[in-house]
Amino acid sequence: MGAGVAGCTAAILYGRAGLRVAIIEKHHNISTHKALCGHFVLGGTQPMLRRTGLWEAMVDEGAAVGDVARWTPAGWAVPEPGLPECISLRREKLDPLLRTLAAGTPGVDLLLGRTVTGLLESGGHVTGVRVGDEEIPARLVVGADGHRSPVAQVAGVAEDVAPNERFGLWAYYRGVVPRGPAASQIWSLDPDVGILVRTDDDLHMLVAFPAKARLADFQSDRAGALERFMASLPDGPDLSSAERVSKVIGTNDYPCVKRDPAPKPGLVLVGDAAITGDPTPAVGCGWAFRAAEWLVESTAPALLDGRDLNEGITAYRKMLGFIVEHDRFSRQDALARPTNPVQKLINKAAHRDPKLARRVYLFAMRAIPASDLINLRTLLRAAWAATRP
Ligand SMILES: Cc1cc2nc3c(=O)[nH]c(=O)nc-3n(C[C@H](O)[C@H](O)[C@H](O)COP(=O)(O)OP(=O)(O)OC[C@H]3O[C@@H](n4cnc5c(N)ncnc54)[C@H](O)[C@@H]3O)c2cc1C
Repeated sequence: MGAGVAGCTAAILYGRAGLRVAIIEKHHNISTHKALCGHFVLGGTQPMLRRTGLWEAMVDEGAAVGDVARWTPAGWAVPEPGLPECISLRREKLDPLLRTLAAGTPGVDLLLGRTVTGLLESGGHVTGVRVGDEEIPARLVVGADGHRSPVAQVAGVAEDVAPNERFGLWAYYRGVVPRGPAASQIWSLDPDVGILVRTDDDLHMLVAFPAKARLADFQSDRAGALERFMASLPDGPDLSSAERVSKVIGTNDYPCVKRDPAPKPGLVLVGDAAITGDPTPAVGCGWAFRAAEWLVESTAPALLDGRDLNEGITAYRKMLGFIVEHDRFSRQDALARPTNPVQKLINKAAHRDPKLARRVYLFAMRAIPASDLINLRTLLRAAWAATRP
């Protein structure tokens, strides 16, 4: 269900494993894409994308690849060479690419212009989906239908919703001259966030995630407000020769939503359908890619052998723990509260301790478990690094 990032990735990998897959996508046109997405895929997803060949496919479509520097009141944190890189390909190219790759994978049928209207159930098990008058039986129904997840709604899955106290807006520009280090830049102000992403077609994306208290400042002349915001950032980009080539896109309210990823026997959720995080740290596409791989890895063997899926589902749930743990911290950040003393200490210490700086970068890239950074040892190390002469 859903030919987005998670659905197409899962279908490609199930198909490669030798399984038959039907992807049911509500849009009729293969090119209809998600508009509300910054498509900046963090470095933690690079190994998975390389393993599956999706990295090269995205690069062939013109994706921009590079590292990202982060500004905090402690200064710029620039990653050392050799750390995992980010990748950015606009959804208008990424979505058709993934759908084309999925449709071209043996065993995969891409059914465009179909909407799931109900689930088939027998003895408490989900046994397929209803698409209008048509019934499609399946051993496993995968809800990869995005943050609203109609499949989860039809199945009556409970939602754990947390507030997001920032709003977001962005636009694409040609002719931006970055003044900060690295290919892309993130400014973690207190509490606003600015992002400059280099993307395909020699474009830059100017992104603002201000605290909701500033909503009124961005209501009229949104492009002007966005440009003034970006230009006011420390080492903010030079926009004097820049030309805006898109309308301003954005959302005023985007709460975090979490659902049980395996709510019923025969039904699993993946991508935003399972965990819709705060968009500010740019994690969702990466999570969707990675969770799809975990799902296939843990369930394909049993699906192929016709075995019970319980063990595989338990393994999938466990792997998702990586995202759930990060999401717990993202939900705190989404409250747009001033940086807490521990974060301040770590940011300051990272400027004096390369090992800590590396760990902070890998955490921000979602390349390591959250607990690899947020633990007592790191705190002691940070306290030592920040206070030594
Ligand atoms: C403001 C904002 C900025 C973001 N920026 C970034 C970023 O910079 N980097 C990043 O990694 N992530 C970002 N994200 C998150 C990212 O967009 C999502 O996490 C990602 O798209 C999730 O992929 P998915 O496959 O789960 O869902 P989607 O990509 O939403 O795909 C769901 C698919 O299901 C289909 N569908 C829905 N309902 C039905 C139905 N009833 N029947 C059939 N098909 C259906 C849809 O048409 C769609 O094709 C951002 C999100 C927002 C809101």
